[in-house]
Amino acid sequence: MQPGTAEARAGGGAWYSPFDDRNAAIAVPKDERQSAPTAAAIAVLYAILNAPTNKPLRCIITNEQVLKNITEQLTGWNDRGFHNVKDARVYKALLSHLRAHGAPTIFCKVDKKGNLDAYRGSMSLAEQASLGIDQSLAYKTIKGQNKAKPRPATEHTIGKVQHDLHVESHVTPMAEHLWKSIRDPELPQRIRDFLWKSMHDAHRVGRFWKHIPECEERMMCAHCNEVESLEHILLECDRPWRRLIWEMAKSLWPKTPDHGSWKEPNLGIILGTNLLEFKDAKGKSAPGIKRLYKILITESAHLIWKLHCEAVIDHENEDVPDKETYNRLCQVLSQRLARDQSLTYKPRWKTSAKPRVLQMWNPIIKDPQKLPLDWIGEARVLVGIGPFNNFRQHPP
Ligand SMILES: [Zn+2]
Repeated sequence: MQPGTAEARAGGGAWYSPFDDRNAAIAVPKDERQSAPTAAAIAVLYAILNAPTNKPLRCIITNEQVLKNITEQLTGWNDRGFHNVKDARVYKALLSHLRAHGAPTIFCKVDKKGNLDAYRGSMSLAEQASLGIDQSLAYKTIKGQNKAKPRPATEHTIGKVQHDLHVESHVTPMAEHLWKSIRDPELPQRIRDFLWKSMHDAHRVGRFWKHIPECEERMMCAHCNEVESLEHILLECDRPWRRLIWEMAKSLWPKTPDHGSWKEPNLGIILGTNLLEFKDAKGKSAPGIKRLYKILITESAHLIWKLHCEAVIDHENEDVPDKETYNRLCQVLSQRLARDQSLTYKPRWKTSAKPRVLQMWNPIIKDPQKLPLDWIGEARVLVGIGPFNNFRQHPP
């Protein structure tokens, strides 16, 4: 976005250390001045609010103007009632919280060589924030509301997801962005619920049963005799449907230069799939490819979870026949395809969506040669990778 236009958004980054839950990308709210100094001042305010009040705080600032404002101007501005001061609301809040901070606070200018990690971390966060991802954090910061402390189990999962995504894409998403990504209205409600519970480690599996009388044995996977966890169920268990579903997802991934190679899932990729970026062979952003991956990953993981629950609750841990597993995945994916068809067919959808939907699904629909090029209005378009027996004889 061009600076100085109505659409321009400024953003700042508050960075503490790698994987610190307090690291935040903060977009400047629309009703504040959209400028780099405003963003930097809000980031400083956020850093003070989230620091322990009884410990000295060393605040490294990348914006020279803001450093001067805080160290040389703030007291004088206060004496004059912040008259004609740009970003007065932010600086008033900053002064009030600085005074409430019980231990000494030191402000210094960033030294790119000496604080390379901090410099890179805050700049990358500021870049994310300038995309205007979430302004609610900035509103809360100016109002002086601290973030609520998450549960330890939730923090543990978020840390794991951040780590996995960092390994995959060299970007560590903020916890706020992870939560926002699983609220994506494009995901069906059942998937959103599943991801939300998974992020909170709130499924009744494994250690949940440890202290519940007469249920202790449920802590172990009845199939592998290992401690059960969501990660075990989705990614490690020897249940036949787990392997088969991931094999199918991989085999459905189109083998084209644009799609690239299949990313093997891990817990971070499953829970944070919406934050992964995909590029085509020319290096251009590829939202259709990203969307296909997101659907394959979330539907596969959700079906593995569902089959696990069905086996434990209704079928005394019996295995599901492979052919049934195969048909179930084809069925849920075909339902997602039908959902896209019905949404795209409605005139209220942007016309640009139709080619994108066609292009996204074309590589994985059943018998495309028997369908017209524009099959959006056609009934019974299915996802398919051929008959089950062929798949078994020629696995990916
Ligand atoms: Zn198992």
